[in-house]
Amino acid sequence: MAAVGKSYQKFNPRAYLQNNYMPPRANFTSEDCVVPWKLRCLAEAFSTGELHGRTLIDIGSGPTIYQLLSACDYFEEIIATDYLEVNREVLQGWVHGESGAFDWSPYIQHVCQIEGKGEPWQVKEQKLREKLKKILPIDIHQPNAGLPAHRPADALISTFCLEAASPDLPSFQRALRNVTTLLKPGGHFLMIGALEESFYLAGEAKLSVVPVTEEDVKEALAKSGYRLHAFRAYIMPPSLKIGVDDVRGVFFTHAQKKL
Ligand code: SAM
Repeated sequence: MAAVGKSYQKFNPRAYLQNNYMPPRANFTSEDCVVPWKLRCLAEAFSTGELHGRTLIDIGSGPTIYQLLSACDYFEEIIATDYLEVNREVLQGWVHGESGAFDWSPYIQHVCQIEGKGEPWQVKEQKLREKLKKILPIDIHQPNAGLPAHRPADALISTFCLEAASPDLPSFQRALRNVTTLLKPGGHFLMIGALEESFYLAGEAKLSVVPVTEEDVKEALAKSGYRLHAFRAYIMPPSLKIGVDDVRGVFFTHAQKKL
């Protein structure tokens, strides 16, 4: 765990965003591309109306906000979290509209389009900025993920965090148990992550990832007391294997903490 924490000290948010959230991986003209696939999974999950309430916590937000775009209509407040101060600063920069912040506008426009509610993208952008009330430090390897005591969240979301911050499967399972304590019984958890990945790059940093299969994710969710609603897998096409990681695919899962 200490070695994982140390390797993250070299994590470069700008390089990470460039590798994963710019073309070719962010190609909005093709629904077969990984970024539109993730955005559609999230838009469809929220459009059911099953996920709503006062507080949504995003576990390991990193320097990204795409994972919160469809959520912001359904919660009064959204809490973003990350282990690294450098990532929390990037998020603060976006909330405050600082010049030089990553341009998420193509993402916001795309999500407005797939949601099909006719919402102007600038309205969604402003709404998310207002709902992102807190950006907190987190460590998924601590009890309660090291967050200050808070009433349990109505829902959790987490994208590419648990497997990317865990050295092995037992610590991935423990991390899931730690974050689950933040969720109220009956609350929903949306998780997106890497399938069978062993590393990714973010500038000078080479981060180790615990390779997980569909069965590993399902078993960890069951052990943490979740009922599975949906599991989808995306196979990374050769054109998106661009040397920044060895990911085989991406999973999306919707689970509910049992009462
Ligand atoms: N959620 C973003 C996304 O969808 O692209 C970022 C995912 S990035 C692959 C993994 C994130 O996990 C990084 O932002 C990193 O700082 C964070 N992280 C690393 N160790 C962590 C820990 N012990 N607890 C919580 N987050 C951690």
